[in-house]
Amino acid sequence: MISKDLHIYNSLSNSKEKFKSIEKGSIGMYVCGPTVYSDVHLGNCRTFISFDVIYRYFIHLGYKVRYVRNITDVGHLEEGGEDRISKKAKLEKLEPMEVAQKYTNDFKNTLTNFNALDPSIEPIASGHIIEQISIIQDLIDKNLAYLSNGSVYFDIEEYDKLNDYGILSGRDLENLKSNSRTLDNQEDKKNEFDFALWKKADNNHLMKWKSPWSEGFPGWHLECTAMSKKYLGDHFDIHGGGMDLKFPHHDCEIAQSKAHTGKDPAKYWIHANMLTLNNKKMSKSTGNNILPVELITGKNNIFSKPFDSNVIRFFFLQAHYRNVLDISDSSLIASEKGYNRLLEIIKRVKEGEVSNEKNDILFNTIKEWENKCYACLNDDFNSPMLIAELFNSTKFINDSDIKISNRERDYFLNLMNIFLNKILGINFDDSTTSNNDSILEVLKEVRDEARLNKNYDLSDKIRDKLANIGVNLNDKD
Ligand code: AMP
Ligand code: ZN
Repeated sequence: MISKDLHIYNSLSNSKEKFKSIEKGSIGMYVCGPTVYSDVHLGNCRTFISFDVIYRYFIHLGYKVRYVRNITDVGHLEEGGEDRISKKAKLEKLEPMEVAQKYTNDFKNTLTNFNALDPSIEPIASGHIIEQISIIQDLIDKNLAYLSNGSVYFDIEEYDKLNDYGILSGRDLENLKSNSRTLDNQEDKKNEFDFALWKKADNNHLMKWKSPWSEGFPGWHLECTAMSKKYLGDHFDIHGGGMDLKFPHHDCEIAQSKAHTGKDPAKYWIHANMLTLNNKKMSKSTGNNILPVELITGKNNIFSKPFDSNVIRFFFLQAHYRNVLDISDSSLIASEKGYNRLLEIIKRVKEGEVSNEKNDILFNTIKEWENKCYACLNDDFNSPMLIAELFNSTKFINDSDIKISNRERDYFLNLMNIFLNKILGINFDDSTTSNNDSILEVLKEVRDEARLNKNYDLSDKIRDKLANIGVNLNDKD
């Protein structure tokens, strides 16, 4: 029996915890999406691919997942207090919404090219102004936010009397007092570390909405509180984002949500680590970045050759999502070799000779290997360990002296398809499996119908036969 006991590193407790969804069989997951004012770079892509694997694994385990990933099109300010999208709109002589649309399209196309699944809901910050205004009003009523010159700020000192501020990043109030440095205009705040919930817009500001306090726009942190609450409720399973969002963004989100609903917004917080270039964080603002298209087409001054998007995805997944990963020509070339080697293993098994005699020893070895592969995924989605296990299969599968029958061959190829294609999201040319997928869907439907008609003999038979060829159905609900 394969263990599906998953352990996840929770940034809230700074430890690995056994995963248990709040509601049996279903998961609500919120991941902070991009700020759509320029093309996404490879660092952004790494984070979203990390969460794509997490999403895919939950689906594979049989959970019904509602995956919400927002689009930030308002409120994310630069140093100096200017809205990033408004600034770009002025520069490119476009409507702010044109800027947002252009880069939202780029973001989606890029992720599709990396074979990332679409989230269930992709809400946009500017489409949720009413929800944000209503949370602000509630925080003012609770005396945890204050109005100043038409802007509204979250009162961290007041909040800290009720709940500790900074539980994710470990920055307490004293620490904030000695190190505060905020992005927006500070004159009208009680304390410089307080953050904006609503900012009054000046006359030149392009994106502004009416509110009880001024014509203005919401602060960046607030949108995620409003949209996660709207689509996943006051308390949901998973909140994720890049490591650089822990502070201040996620600590502010927790504070706002707790102040508003009295509940911790998420049970598990997952943070994906950074992609670096020349050992420095890849970043839009510093220019130390490379765009996916530049690497895929080879039109750049850094890398010696173009790389396929599958190879880039494979390269990302050869590092654990919580570790920093440096991208370089040599490491990409090494990944490309590894990726081709895996494809070669699959090809040799597919095209190799098959014997009529079943090989029970080999069959059991494959099943033991399957267990090891799941153990990697169950250990905080350990993709590099899983990939190492996939390579390990050569120890038993590619030996020409070993007799292999259709049963072992199909079982093995199906597992490769599950791990490499379905869970890691590496697209490899597999004409047989796509056909198998449709057949599998038909079988699942027949089985569901059998269960509905209480024909458990038939439904169990289908389940067991599928299990024998490596397809495990999970009746989570
Ligand atoms: P942004 O559009 O800047 O809000 O970033 C979108 C997402 O990409 C966030 O989750 C960031 O944490 C993440 N991100 C930004 N830079 C990097 C990087 N160098 N490596 C990995 N993830 C990153
Ligand atoms: Zn967010």
